[in-house]
Amino acid sequence: MAERTLIIIKPDAVQRHLVGEIIGRFEKKGFKIVAAKFLQLSEKQTGQLYAAHVEKAFYKPLVKYISSAPLLVMVWEADGIIDMARKMMGATFGYYAEMGTIRGDFSSSERYNLVHGSDSPESAQQEIKLFFAPNEMVDYKFTDSHWLYGKNT
Ligand code: UDP
Ligand code: MG
Repeated sequence: MAERTLIIIKPDAVQRHLVGEIIGRFEKKGFKIVAAKFLQLSEKQTGQLYAAHVEKAFYKPLVKYISSAPLLVMVWEADGIIDMARKMMGATFGYYAEMGTIRGDFSSSERYNLVHGSDSPESAQQEIKLFFAPNEMVDYKFTDSHWLYGKNT
């Protein structure tokens, strides 16, 4: 199976009507969506997602931001997707992110940066587990996968 990553369209992106724009970029890149849930996270669920940041000064406002309004949490799949998705997202702070990236094109903030993507295979596995049971991820093939990936997977 190809690599999977957790992508979250954060509350600011939902409020700013950027859901389709962000999904469209991943879709056009050839990534395959295998799971999605639209929901509002509790502070506790948000804390689990960002457990690695619990000691940071920005942890509290981060939890407040992420739990303040609905978001779209998804699993996407492709070989090498973790690094590719991070490149497409751009640097963490919107004002440093390269133009052409999601954050570079649409965010000017360090916190309100529209999108989350797992940063390693280990964190992807852990983060996916927080939101999806194995049977909530759908296994299927694209009929044009040869044209997308140059191989018949
Ligand atoms: N964040 C923040 N202030 C900071 C650093 C990060 O508010 O100084 C927020 C921002 O929304 C970021 C999230 O905390 O996306 C998680 O930080 P991380 O360093 O993991 O960045 P990411 O992996 O999202 O690029
Ligand atoms: Mg991170």
